[in-house]
Amino acid sequence: MLCTTTREGMECNFMSPKGCRFTAGTCHPIVEACQGCDRTVTAGEQAYCKSYPDPASKWRNGPCNFATHIKVESKESAKINPLKASKRASAKKK
Ligand code: SF4
Repeated sequence: MLCTTTREGMECNFMSPKGCRFTAGTCHPIVEACQGCDRTVTAGEQAYCKSYPDPASKWRNGPCNFATHIKVESKESAKINPLKASKRASAKKK
């Protein structure tokens, strides 16, 4: 539904016929870490996120999972089942 408050005229999943359903009835401006993300939109003099109404909370516990301007590297390497690895190694020897 189209926003009729903070981002007037823009599509928003939190908008309802009764108004904005997000906490406090409005979305929040982007934070510094959002700079460069393709999901930012400008409404008035503020920039907002198209995907999430509270950008600060998306960065609270690490990088935002919707961000388009960063690459999150996996900390875990692929898990290898030792039993299967052993079978694979012995199959190659034959
Ligand atoms: S997707 Fe994440 S990084 Fe991009 S503007 Fe929204 S909150 Fe910020």
